[in-house]
Amino acid sequence: MKTISQHLKSIYGCKVYKLALSAKVTCPNRDGTLGTGGCIFCSAGGSGEFATDADKSIEEQIAEAKKRVSAKVPGEAKYIAYFQSFTNTYGDFGYLNRIFREAISVSDVAILSIATRPDCISEEMYELLGELRKMKPVWVELGLQTVKEETARYIRRGYELPVYDECVARLQKLGIEVVTHVILGLPGETREDMAETVRHVADVGSNGIKLQLLHILRGTDLEREYGEGKVPVMTLDEYVDLLKYLVPMIPDSVIIHRLTGDGPKKGLVAPLWTGDKKRVLNAINAALCENVP
Ligand code: SF4
Repeated sequence: MKTISQHLKSIYGCKVYKLALSAKVTCPNRDGTLGTGGCIFCSAGGSGEFATDADKSIEEQIAEAKKRVSAKVPGEAKYIAYFQSFTNTYGDFGYLNRIFREAISVSDVAILSIATRPDCISEEMYELLGELRKMKPVWVELGLQTVKEETARYIRRGYELPVYDECVARLQKLGIEVVTHVILGLPGETREDMAETVRHVADVGSNGIKLQLLHILRGTDLEREYGEGKVPVMTLDEYVDLLKYLVPMIPDSVIIHRLTGDGPKKGLVAPLWTGDKKRVLNAINAALCENVP
């Protein structure tokens, strides 16, 4: 098992902090291209609640985000410029080109990280990502969530598995690191379904994986289904037990970026124990005998 903090420390010799930034983008699952309701679990914030104000310049957003993490930063530090919310390769190309270049050009930004969907990377965007990669490391985070097509349809993901597979291969040809998001505990999925997703992510050669327990957030369609008793949620013990089963399947070549959720406490409906991040991390650390991210 190799965690992202161990990995970054071995490369940069120090801790590398994430700066959550906002681009003025939406998502094809929300703007009517594929749908208007979004993925069934996605909150109004577009699966990223910690970013700064998208109306501010990238320079201002970076300065603000640095201020937010400053209490944790011991001295000199490096940063990841992280475009997290919504689909960050889906928008006006000229605008995205400009903001990605601005972010990657900041001297203490070591990595540019862009969260998106595999069906939303145009030819010119692939080209741009390849150019940015020549400046500094670039990560592209892909929201796969599951390999089970039935579940993918239920959560309204909006693309099929081969689209993800092809995107991973294209990004890797450009030297871009792929981080795949997986949601554990989706309705109707067994342990074996989740194991199949984890194995697939490793088999296609994703460089990183983020495992996140399904969160039920206020205002989502999932909240309604949960209210109707259709969505079971795990206890902390069940989740830790599941991780003990899944994590050994992840080869060292796939860096583990996250084993807990990072949902906002404010809009969290269930499971409420996930709001106590310290308790969750302690339980996972004790079970896996590691310092997990
Ligand atoms: S693709 Fe991402 S931003 Fe769009 S609705 Fe789904 S989770 Fe939300």
